[in-house]
Amino acid sequence: MGQASRQRIVILGGSFGGLTAAHALRRSPVRERLEITVVSKDDRFTFIPSLPWVTMGHKSLEQISFPIRPSLEAKGIRCVSGEAERIDAQARKVVLAAGDLEYDYLVIATGHRSANEAVPGLGPFDGPGHSLMSPREAVEAGEAWKRFLDDPGPMVIGSAPGASCLGPAYEFAFEVDHALKRRGMRHRVPITFVTPEPFLGHFGVGGMGRARQFLEGEFEHRDIRYRTSAAVSKITASSVELAGGEAFESRYSLIIPPLAGVPAIARSPGLGNPKGFVPTDEAFRHKEFENVYAVGVAVGYPPVDQTPVPVNFPKTGHMTVQMAKAAARNIAAAITGGAPTRRPPFVECILDMGDTAARMLADPVRPPRNRVKMSVGRRWLWAKQLYAPYFTWKMRTGRV
Ligand SMILES: Cc1cc2nc3c(=O)[nH]c(=O)nc-3n(C[C@H](O)[C@H](O)[C@H](O)COP(=O)(O)OP(=O)(O)OC[C@H]3O[C@@H](n4cnc5c(N)ncnc54)[C@H](O)[C@@H]3O)c2cc1C
Repeated sequence: MGQASRQRIVILGGSFGGLTAAHALRRSPVRERLEITVVSKDDRFTFIPSLPWVTMGHKSLEQISFPIRPSLEAKGIRCVSGEAERIDAQARKVVLAAGDLEYDYLVIATGHRSANEAVPGLGPFDGPGHSLMSPREAVEAGEAWKRFLDDPGPMVIGSAPGASCLGPAYEFAFEVDHALKRRGMRHRVPITFVTPEPFLGHFGVGGMGRARQFLEGEFEHRDIRYRTSAAVSKITASSVELAGGEAFESRYSLIIPPLAGVPAIARSPGLGNPKGFVPTDEAFRHKEFENVYAVGVAVGYPPVDQTPVPVNFPKTGHMTVQMAKAAARNIAAAITGGAPTRRPPFVECILDMGDTAARMLADPVRPPRNRVKMSVGRRWLWAKQLYAPYFTWKMRTGRV
């Protein structure tokens, strides 16, 4: 096949969505007809689900990441380092500081921007709160955690109104509880968990089987006070305040922010919704521009239900991989004239609870569902510890 007839695939983002889409296309039946380019703001892939372990001091960033360029180039995928400034979907090109990149098919896998402006005090770089949403933030939260251990006091952990990535707040609360008990310090640290969810274990998906009863029991057993339908309205260096007037003293606050789409989408007319997320159909194809696909956190999904305090729909790494594989299959189908795949994603996750873990599965993510499973035990903790390096190795070697 000659160079001229090759389809130019440009993929924005070098994380779960971007790397999976790139390698899935490279392995697809139409691979000989493709010229694949990944554009990434970050030079490294980081296994984001392990960030709480970085904060707790169990892992370093080095241990959970790898440089993406050598692994992409080894597979014949071009890698462009840099941030896409915007997309001109009419002209089919991505605008970069280094020049424009034209495409036949575009995959947007740019993840999120933390919308810290939503609540005064969300941090760490805009206010006194801590966060786990990026490698830099996880490292900052870890440094603050070390200082906190020298001078402990009350902690508030949870999520802000409109958050969608709710699991890490639970993981952090359980891990902190476990770490403090191991040090014999738990009695010096009252922990309060605040969440916009109408009940524990809603997770932005309307609940998952008996997760609610399980998490309520665990929080009560572990003396973690909790407030549901809580709208965090302000974080200061010594408190977390809720709309309605309740305030909790806090010497260490970790509140997960609501998310928005990245600036590049916001700057691209006609591409994103008002929050900067990309609306797609069930084949992960843009609703207006049929050669544009979006996967992972970049996709705009409506919430599953209306809750007293807004809770948004999560897009986990596990779901992102499914979306990216489906988008790759659908691009291959579009090239060959085949039918697109439209299976709704399911969610499977392991919640690290410090001394144990819970594995949950919901298929499909939105209720009503065909399958809901939950199981608890130390074996899931070991599974999570083994899975992280295994998945990272698969990403590095392109075995998606
Ligand atoms: C603390 C934490 C724990 C989590 N735990 C789990 C878990 O246990 N299980 C699970 O399944 N999921 C988990 N998740 C969710 C999971 O990490 C995300 O679903 C996943 O990272 C989404 O992948 P993505 O590729 O869509 O976006 P991201 O991982 O956010 O990657 C986006 C990429 O796009 C790049 N980018 C952004 N803008 C541009 C631009 N303009 N130009 C070029 N590149 C750009 C970024 O640099 C980045 O490389 C967790 C998330 C967090 C924060």
